[in-house]
Amino acid sequence: MQLTRAAYLADFYVYPGLALTLAALALAPGPRPWLALGVAAGAGLASWTLLEYVLHRWVFHHVPWICEQHDAHHRDPKAFVGTPTWLSLLAFSALVMAPSLVEWGVPVGCSFTAGLVLGYLWYVAVHYLVHHWHAAPGTALSRLKRLHAIHHHRDATANFGVTTPVWDHVFRTRSR
Ligand SMILES: [Zn+2]
Ligand SMILES: [Zn+2]
Repeated sequence: MQLTRAAYLADFYVYPGLALTLAALALAPGPRPWLALGVAAGAGLASWTLLEYVLHRWVFHHVPWICEQHDAHHRDPKAFVGTPTWLSLLAFSALVMAPSLVEWGVPVGCSFTAGLVLGYLWYVAVHYLVHHWHAAPGTALSRLKRLHAIHHHRDATANFGVTTPVWDHVFRTRSR
């Protein structure tokens, strides 16, 4: 969706606050299942990387209307085209946070959601950087930039991962 610059950058203000709030709820004083909290946060982060791949490959490139928005990003990568914060926030609340809290309780549910939300924040940051920043040759960012540029300009059926190419390896969609 075409956004204003402020709306496009709102994720960078909203999601750190949400992640900190969830972490504070998970780590509030009282007996805590520390190992489960750590595992849940790690699982949330790892789940994001898979969700990023699944959303990009099967939703952004195939679901009507959404794929038209994503095409606009492919055509003009520097334009402020993205998912509005209110929409991602609604989706995370309804589809991740609420079921996690119901299933695992507040500490572990908040920890899992915090991990996933941090993964999302990492994704929007990396995606912003690959399109808007110059990366020095040989850096991790320059490698991610190159893989994403291949997806944009050479083969839109490859390199769906933005933060990591690991799922492109797993699903055999990596192109170099
Ligand atoms: Zn892009
Ligand atoms: Zn794409």
